[in-house]
Amino acid sequence: MQIFREKELLRSYLSNFHSRKNSIGFVPTMGALHQGHLSLVAASQKDNEVTVVSIFVNPTQFDNLNDLKKYPNTLEKDLHLLKKINCDAVFVPNAHEMYNNDISSEYFDFGGIENQMEGAFRKGHFDGVGTIVKRLFQLIEPSKAYFGEKDFQQLQIIKRLVEIEKLPIHVIGCPIHRETTGLAMSSRNQRLTAEQQEQAAFIYKTLALAKELFPEKTIPQINSIVKNEFEKHPTLSLEYFIIADETTLLSIETKKESRNPRAFIAAYLNSVRLIDNLSLYN
Ligand code: AMP
Repeated sequence: MQIFREKELLRSYLSNFHSRKNSIGFVPTMGALHQGHLSLVAASQKDNEVTVVSIFVNPTQFDNLNDLKKYPNTLEKDLHLLKKINCDAVFVPNAHEMYNNDISSEYFDFGGIENQMEGAFRKGHFDGVGTIVKRLFQLIEPSKAYFGEKDFQQLQIIKRLVEIEKLPIHVIGCPIHRETTGLAMSSRNQRLTAEQQEQAAFIYKTLALAKELFPEKTIPQINSIVKNEFEKHPTLSLEYFIIADETTLLSIETKKESRNPRAFIAAYLNSVRLIDNLSLYN
């Protein structure tokens, strides 16, 4: 497995694949890898001749300095995991390599989907995501790029990004990997004790409850049941629960507003922010 820390060296490695018109699969990550990430790598390996993973904790997508500082870093273990599954290349730049001395975001207009949910609660988040993913796409020029539905809004944003920037990249969404408790795998789970991870499975359980109630209850009724459940919970605090259309990501109040409704949650356990989502129609 090749490890690159510099853009130029990665470019020259990839130039052979580009000139032979080999398909290049790309999986961007922020490291602290788990089975969810590895499932994206496996999907890429299945579809492409070469797979590149990036590991970069992108400062411009964090609105909370403490969250950035505490973001888990397990690079040696990550490289070991990737090597074990025969990943071809890993790009591990530092902030200077990606931003020079100007750690700031480009402004993007994603047509409004950037203003809901994560965009509303994490100011500037999707400008940061757009900035780094655009730079990585321009550098690597992958044929296909793999993103998890765990960050469903981000996946939709990236689909818009390639349209706006007219990049010939096929963006592929991959299903959410969960612990046996239902808890969505996340690098941030590493900041929780085993007991807290058990508690955090409540997020998925509540999404599953919303799905179960969806055929019978109205959306306002489901919203208030979920709110209530969280109010009763001793350690988790709800930031938002929204039922939204998958494409517009606009919250809906009646079922006829969307054919593809999905429930989205963000919640805190102590200071760790967790997100999850679940389709309500299949
Ligand atoms: P991150 O390292 O958190 O930026 O995530 C890198 C990629 O892995 C993103 O496309 C995420 O959506 C995806 N991902 C993270 N957690 C999961 C999961 N539990 N299942 C599937 N994909 C995931």
